[in-house]
Amino acid sequence: MNMSSIKRFSARDTNVLPSHFYNIKADLPTLPKPPLHPETRQPLNPQDLEPVFSKGFIAHEGSMERFVPIPDAVQEIFALYRPTPLIYATGLKKALGTPAHIFYKYEGAGPMGSHKSNTALMQAYLAARENIETLVTETGAGQWGSALAHAGALFGVKVKVFMVRVSYRQKPGRRILMEMFGASVEESPSPKTQSGARFYDQNPDHPGSLGIAISEALELAVKSPATRYSLGSVLDAVLMHQTVIGQEADLQMAAQGAEPDVVIGCVGGGSNFGGIAFPFVRKRLKEGRSIRFIAVEPEACPSLTQGELRYDHGDTAGLTPLLYMHTLGMDFVPAPIHAGGLRYHGMAPLVSHLASLGIIEPRVYPQEHIFEAGHLFFKAEGILPAPESSHAVAAAIDEALKAKNEGREKVILFNLSGHGLLDLNAYARNGNGSRNA
Ligand SMILES: *Cc1c(COP(=O)(O)O)cnc(C)c1O
Repeated sequence: MNMSSIKRFSARDTNVLPSHFYNIKADLPTLPKPPLHPETRQPLNPQDLEPVFSKGFIAHEGSMERFVPIPDAVQEIFALYRPTPLIYATGLKKALGTPAHIFYKYEGAGPMGSHKSNTALMQAYLAARENIETLVTETGAGQWGSALAHAGALFGVKVKVFMVRVSYRQKPGRRILMEMFGASVEESPSPKTQSGARFYDQNPDHPGSLGIAISEALELAVKSPATRYSLGSVLDAVLMHQTVIGQEADLQMAAQGAEPDVVIGCVGGGSNFGGIAFPFVRKRLKEGRSIRFIAVEPEACPSLTQGELRYDHGDTAGLTPLLYMHTLGMDFVPAPIHAGGLRYHGMAPLVSHLASLGIIEPRVYPQEHIFEAGHLFFKAEGILPAPESSHAVAAAIDEALKAKNEGREKVILFNLSGHGLLDLNAYARNGNGSRNA
C-alpha cells in the first residue's frame, strides 16, 4: 500500500463530521421566555449557575452564536462512532408496500447504544478543562448515566449517578456498565441527601422518580466544591450538542440527492428530536423549505400534548431554575412504562417554543402501539429499536402508510435514537410487540 500521499492518520470522516454545533436560537423569529431564579423569580444571571454547572457549559447554554465550534479533542472522540449511519429503510418500505422513501439516522451505533454520548462527551470535556473532579447526575433507565460514565472515564472526571430505584433493581445491565467505567451508582431516593431522605425515611423501598433523583444530584453538586452537575436533556446547550445528528443527516441525504418532507423524533426531554430536527428547522425558517416536524411522546407522559405551557421546576424539590416549558407539573409521577427515557414531566423550552409557534406537530401513542411498531421494524430491518425510539418508528410507519394511501413518494427521515438490546425483557413482557404472540 502506498501511504506516501497521506499526511496524517485520523479516524475523522471530515466530509460529513460537523466542526460546529448548530445553535437554533440565532435563527428563531422570537426567543423562548428566559429561565428564572428559583427563589427571586427574576431572570437568571449566568453567574447564578456557577455552583451547579461548569463555566464552559454555562457559556454554551447562553450562547447566541449560530455555530459553536466543537473542540478538536471532542471531534476525535466523536470519530469513534460518528458519522452514524444514515440508512435507507429498504426492508421497511417493502414490508409496508409504500412509495415513500424512509431514511433513518442510527444513533444506536454510539458506544452506549444511544445519542446521549454526543452531549456526555462534550460535557465531560468541558468539566475536565476546568479541573472539575466529579460530575454528578441522575439516570432513569440508565442510558444517560452510562454515556456520562463512559465520557468521564475518557476525560479523567469521576462520575456519580443517582439511579431511580425501580430501574436500579429491575435493570442491572446499565448499572453494571456504569460501574465497569468506574462510576459510583446510588439508589435514589437515598438517605445521603436531604432531598432523598425526605422520601427514604418514610419508605426505604420508595420506587423513586427522575424528579427526585435530579434533586439529589443537584443538592450534592451545590454542597461539594469540586463537583458539578450534568444534565442529559432539556437544556438549550444539550439540544445544541445533539445537532451533530441533523447536520450529518442533511449532508448524508444531500449526497443521495434527497431532502426530507418530514422529520420525526421521539421526545422525552427533547434532545434527540432537537438534534435531528433543528438543522432542518433552519432550512424551513431561512430557506423557505416546506419541511414538517413530528415529535412523538408516550400516552403515559404526554407533556407536549396535554401539559400546560408555563414556568415550572425541572425537579421535585424545586431546586432547579424555573423553565418556561410544557409541563405536567413537578409532582407528576408517570406510570412505569417501558420507555424509561420518556418519563419526564417537562419538555425542553426550545421544543415547547417551536410547538407554540406551530413549527412542531406533537403526536402521542399508547405503549401497545409502539411495541408493535418496534417489532415490525425489527423484522423488516434487523435492528431492535429502544422502546423510546419505537415512538419515532411508529410515526414514520404511519406517515409512510399515509403516503401509500395518497400514492405519494414522500421522503421521511426519522431518528432511531437508540437500540433496544438491553430492553429485551420489555419486549418479552409486551408479547414481543406482536398482537398474536
Ligand atoms: C434518553 C433517551 C430518549 C429521550 O430523551 P430525549 O432527550 O428526548 O432525546 C430517547 N431515546 C433514547 C434511546 C434515550 O436514551
